[in-house]
Amino acid sequence: MKIARETLQFILEVCKSSAPREFAGMLSAQGDVITEVIVVPGTESSDESAVMQLFMLPNIHTVGSVHSHPSGNTTPSNADLELFSMKGFVHMIVGAPYDLNSWTCYDKDGDRIKLEVVDYEFKDENDLFEET
Ligand code: ZN
Repeated sequence: MKIARETLQFILEVCKSSAPREFAGMLSAQGDVITEVIVVPGTESSDESAVMQLFMLPNIHTVGSVHSHPSGNTTPSNADLELFSMKGFVHMIVGAPYDLNSWTCYDKDGDRIKLEVVDYEFKDENDLFEET
C-alpha cells in the first residue's frame, strides 16, 4: 500500500489545524495508492477522542482510517485497536508536531506497517490546470 504525497500533506495539515482536538477520517484509494480522506459526517471530535459514526459513512470504498493524537504518542489505544479490526486494513495515527516523521501506520491487527509515500498524478487537478 502507498499514499500520495499530496494526500499525506493534506492529512498532516488538517490534523494540525484540528489540534488540540483529534481529527478522524477514512482513507480511500485509487488502485494501491491512498489518494483521499473522507471526513465521516457526524464525527464527534473533542480534546480526548474522535468517535466516528461508521454507520454514517457514505457508500464509497474505503481502505482504512486516519486519526490524530495531539499528544504526539502514536501508539494505538484499545479503542483504536477495536476500530482497526472493524473496518479497513490501513490505519494511520498522526501525532504532533504533524510533520512527515510524526505518523505511524498500522494494519488491522495493530501491527506497524510501512506506507510508501509516492508522487501521484491527480487527474482532476490536471484538468483544472491544463496547459494551453
Ligand atoms: Zn487514537
